[in-house]
Amino acid sequence: MRQRESWLRDAGRHGEQHTASGQGRGEGESQHISVQTCYPSALSSVSGEKSSGGRGYADLHLHTSASDGCLSPAEVVEVAAKEGLAAIAICDHDTVAGLPEAIAAAEKIGIELIPGLELSSYLPTPAALELAGKPGSEVHILGYFFDYENVALAAVLRRLCAERLERVKKMIYLLGELGVNLEQSEIDRAAAFGSVGRMHVARALVKQGFVSDTREAFAQYIGGGKPAYVPRVHVTPAEACGVIRRAKGIPVLAHPSLLDSDKLIPTLVKEGVMGIEAYYRTVSAQVAEHYCRLAEKWGLLVTGGSDSHQGKNGPFLIGTVKLDYLHVEKLKKKASELLVGEGQK
Ligand SMILES: [Zn+2]
Ligand SMILES: [Zn+2]
Repeated sequence: MRQRESWLRDAGRHGEQHTASGQGRGEGESQHISVQTCYPSALSSVSGEKSSGGRGYADLHLHTSASDGCLSPAEVVEVAAKEGLAAIAICDHDTVAGLPEAIAAAEKIGIELIPGLELSSYLPTPAALELAGKPGSEVHILGYFFDYENVALAAVLRRLCAERLERVKKMIYLLGELGVNLEQSEIDRAAAFGSVGRMHVARALVKQGFVSDTREAFAQYIGGGKPAYVPRVHVTPAEACGVIRRAKGIPVLAHPSLLDSDKLIPTLVKEGVMGIEAYYRTVSAQVAEHYCRLAEKWGLLVTGGSDSHQGKNGPFLIGTVKLDYLHVEKLKKKASELLVGEGQK
């Protein structure tokens, strides 16, 4: 844990460096949404303004090739630095395997790298039926500022990644039954690095000429209810939050706009969620404001991110959402409080 304390201290220093050096790039030229404050009247003022604290912007939801992103962790860091971001968080699905490479690259370049994670969970059916009116509600939980070397966390992630691989193998078997014989060496390579999922299968289907794009792969074969679909082993939101909290991290509800109902939010808060990803690539200023108000109501931290799985090309580039650094400071304050709480035990 000592390592993490020094990391928190160092992270603050990186942020300061960025104010001086990196934050200016992109101002006046960015096409991206600039998230100025919690209440995003400033969403319309895209360019030419400094963040309220003058410390720049963050994108706190990025994927790398350690899960289903297209760029390596080091490449994601490079692109983020070129975008002029002061801080980023790598939030790969069910794995922290990309973090060491990302941290090393970030130290070299001088951008602040926040350890992150995205866990997929499902609200148990009775609660989902009551709150959302349908049996299963998929809930993604982001984790920030946790001890990414925590032994208990590593054990849980190993189990989740093993289950992911089993699921993918079952899908490949079912595809074979349908006459779609997928060559799986790329999938094996991805599994050896981090976590695999349906997107890897979809991309392999495209690459090997069975479908024309990943959308078709889901629609024809591996989407819910399709012939090669295999359901995931379920983790509940409470379990996901518990794993992150035990590693002294901050659990945050990812992309609430994709939830089945806002009525789920108080339940998730009770189960350990401490923040909400109000700013997301697909939400309007009005929707982001709505979630900021809910954050205020439920005493939650506010985060934001692009959920970019790509980098140089594609619809959702790194930095598509720019979160005011003041929200990163609030996250850090909470992370420090969690550490102090640990020390008092
Ligand atoms: Zn997600
Ligand atoms: Zn994501």
